[in-house]
Amino acid sequence: MTTLPDLIRSQQRFLLTGHENPDGDCVGAQVALSQMLKGMGKTVHIVNPDPLSANFDFLTEHTTFLCPRNGDPLPEFDVGVLLDCSQLSRVGSLGKSIGACGKTIAVVDHHVGSEDGDGSVFYVDVTAAATGALIRRLHADLGIELTLPAAEGVFLSLVSDTGWFRYSNADAEVFAMAAELVSRGVDASRMYDAINRRNHPDSPRVLADALQNSRLLLDGELACLSLDKAMIERCSKADFDTDSMMEPLRSIEGVEVVALLKERFDGNVKCSLRARDDVDVQAIARQFGGGGHKKASGATMMMRMAEAERAIVSAVKLALAAQHGH
Ligand code: 5GP
Ligand code: MN
Repeated sequence: MTTLPDLIRSQQRFLLTGHENPDGDCVGAQVALSQMLKGMGKTVHIVNPDPLSANFDFLTEHTTFLCPRNGDPLPEFDVGVLLDCSQLSRVGSLGKSIGACGKTIAVVDHHVGSEDGDGSVFYVDVTAAATGALIRRLHADLGIELTLPAAEGVFLSLVSDTGWFRYSNADAEVFAMAAELVSRGVDASRMYDAINRRNHPDSPRVLADALQNSRLLLDGELACLSLDKAMIERCSKADFDTDSMMEPLRSIEGVEVVALLKERFDGNVKCSLRARDDVDVQAIARQFGGGGHKKASGATMMMRMAEAERAIVSAVKLALAAQHGH
């Protein structure tokens, strides 16, 4: 069976991609892998189904992120690499075009079930905190030193998926890698500034108005926040990252699960779930065709908001009852 290091040694042209609305782990891993491949003299293109969030502007100083529109031709490639997801369906319409090229697909991922993804070569560890950590391991496997941009990419991945080292996936590997990356020149505080301290002046009002609508349900064990189209529009106008709305809710004593429901333009609902302790929110997201990790998962729910709210409340209720043992 071909391994990813073998594939990298033997092939020349690589197309890196990842999931819709690429997050810090996804783009950090893309930067680090593209740096590694370019250093080996390979041709590399990064293509994403959505444009980069402005929070990641600092990466565009050294890395180009393409976002081909429907029908635009893809750059030529021998190997497509799926990062931070394992299914072409997670890559939006771009996934279809990539699949249609009939080239080798490699999967680099840490999500539950990623070993059964759409590739033929896998570099997967569901216990890894971030996809970027896998790219750091790949450097070691191939005996390649990290450049500073690669180190920053891996660091971005680690901080994105561990909530700046607060979540339970921040394990010994994460802290050891972080120490190494800092010793290679990564300036953690400068990166925090570049990513997080560039909010729009309207953002406090947007955040306050959104959180105003949060509700505590199921004896205070579920915190639910629904954002309708109008609020989503305000968030996107202020370029406000809705993910950050979940942490204040998860910080309420007694809350076990946070559900963020976002109304999409087609009227369906994108749901994000976060667990504080032992509730398996990946299993809940899976019931709606989504997935992720035990403590952080998501799904696109093909239903209206009111129905999605009811469905989530009853799924969380069942999960809590199972956990409480009745
Ligand atoms: P978020 O809530 O930040 O969108 O996602 C949380 C986690 O769940 C991430 O690891 C993300 O990749 C995963 N996730 C989110 N939405 C989906 C989905 O629709 N399908 C799958 N398989 N995973 C998802
Ligand atoms: Mn990830």
